[in-house]
Amino acid sequence: MLSDIELLLKLQVIDYDLGELERSKEYIPDMMENLKREIKESEELFQKTEKELSESKVMQKNLELEISTRQEELKKLQTQMMSIKTNKEYDALISQIDSVKEAISDRETQVLELIEKIEKLNGSIDDYRKNAEESRVQNEKQLAVLQEKMDSVGSKVSIKQDERHRIEVQVPKRTMSIYERVRKNRGGDVVVTVKKRASGSCYKALPPHRIQEIKRGDQIITCDNCGRMLVWIDGESE
Ligand SMILES: [Zn+2]
Repeated sequence: MLSDIELLLKLQVIDYDLGELERSKEYIPDMMENLKREIKESEELFQKTEKELSESKVMQKNLELEISTRQEELKKLQTQMMSIKTNKEYDALISQIDSVKEAISDRETQVLELIEKIEKLNGSIDDYRKNAEESRVQNEKQLAVLQEKMDSVGSKVSIKQDERHRIEVQVPKRTMSIYERVRKNRGGDVVVTVKKRASGSCYKALPPHRIQEIKRGDQIITCDNCGRMLVWIDGESE
């Protein structure tokens, strides 16, 4: 037959587990959200880079086409130079030639910038792809584990509640109500070990006769200061 205090210590372990299970209902979904977000973000980075890369290549091709069209145009204008008759015609043609040359040079600058950009994107896209794949594989593994945990919380809680009930009925009602009150008001452990002749929770020193009573263990002794139930454990309490 277990003493009341031993029963309460068992109860306390169950209550701790129940608390953890309750907390896991909050943090497991949070962890899962984070893992899903990581997958999504790494995939988006890869896709965004891939899109940017292909758009840049298309832009480069278009600019190069435009450059060759303008170069044809330039050749024609330069041929026309041969048949110029007036100064006015000459001035007009020169300004036309200048503007085509300027357009070509602008586009050449843009092509150079694009080539640089494409090189940079090419340098990082493999890493992004690998990262996205790894994140998917790793995180999905973790997600499966967490989902399983989440699915089993309900049944674990009811098992613990059954265990709790079986102990609860063996503890005197008055003791049980002290336990419940301290648990509700203070949180954390209700039964605490005496440590260095003081309450293991609030560290208030205990007079010798109290220590004797606690050591006997035949009645519930609570701490005057924190209200928790005190227990003597040989080797831990001295
Ligand atoms: Zn105390």
